[in-house]
Amino acid sequence: MSDFVRIRIYNVGLGDCILVSVPGVKREKHILIDFGSTRGKNKEYLERVKDHIIETVNSDPLAIVLTHGHLDHFKGLYHFIDEFDKITSVFLTTKYLRTPETRRLGTREGPVLRALDERLERLKVLVDQGNLDDESMKLASERLTTDEMIDRLCKRLGSRVRYLDRESRVVLAKFLAGTMAKAHILSPEPSEESYLRFAFGKPLENKGIGGGLILKKIRDKIANRSETSFRELLMREREYDNATSLVILLNWRGKRVLFAGDAQESSWKTMYDNGLLEPIDVLKVAHHASHNGTPVDHPDIWSKMIGSKKPIFLVSTYPRKDWGMPSRDLLQRLESTGMVYSTEELEGSPAFIDIEI
Ligand SMILES: [Zn+2]
Repeated sequence: MSDFVRIRIYNVGLGDCILVSVPGVKREKHILIDFGSTRGKNKEYLERVKDHIIETVNSDPLAIVLTHGHLDHFKGLYHFIDEFDKITSVFLTTKYLRTPETRRLGTREGPVLRALDERLERLKVLVDQGNLDDESMKLASERLTTDEMIDRLCKRLGSRVRYLDRESRVVLAKFLAGTMAKAHILSPEPSEESYLRFAFGKPLENKGIGGGLILKKIRDKIANRSETSFRELLMREREYDNATSLVILLNWRGKRVLFAGDAQESSWKTMYDNGLLEPIDVLKVAHHASHNGTPVDHPDIWSKMIGSKKPIFLVSTYPRKDWGMPSRDLLQRLESTGMVYSTEELEGSPAFIDIEI
């Protein structure tokens, strides 16, 4: 048995695609964390990435983790699901994906999520009527496409879909049985309340969550015909999808690797408040190294994560000037703290970085 876990981070343009290979007593076990892309890489290239993954995994067990329902994290998987289907033993995703199919499979359904569904219905009407400005139209179509694709993907996977949150302890542990690796889920929180706290902040400090202020706020926005308010809602929704990314801590012989999805400031704060953060050896930097994905400006949080050793930072990014991505400031901070490996300038087809711990 090899002594090392290999973490392979593919260049997929803007998106994440990470293959973690864990030695086991009998055979290797692999976890594919996201396989998405939205910019910079065409379908033929992604096809080569897919072939490369399938070849690497061969007949070993593979679990797929979908950190959150954004295209840059699942579009590749969506296109090639039939080929992954043969070898996928488990499929894991967050329960906060709101589509008819995921609900049927057991997504929590509180009043707020129902209000968001009303929003979806109304969105469809507005899009059909062509009643939105260009920017809102773009956001709305993206939202509808994303929901529809996730829905089809989940239908395709059927009962293999498991929804994970901080309290789901068994699923990954079961998958990793027969290896010396342990995995813990640090985020998202199991309750709908905390999910919405990410999105709407303050009002949740008041009592009356669910049926109270938040619900009213969302309903008001939905009822409001103003395009600005719609746009704001859609943009917030996109943000809080990120903030409820699955965050997974992999422990290998005392070394800690944190896969942070697209976690944002609020998720780090919650993990910190829950006492879940410990010094890391490797961090898959969240949200493609944008300015709001890594808590470097929160000394209390950051010092919990950075111990005495110099960690490795894995960055999966694609330059987008309009979003200030990746943040050069952040990259500099990371370089002064540890070792940075980024997909940005990688060459090859497919191109990837391997690290072993
Ligand atoms: Zn992303």
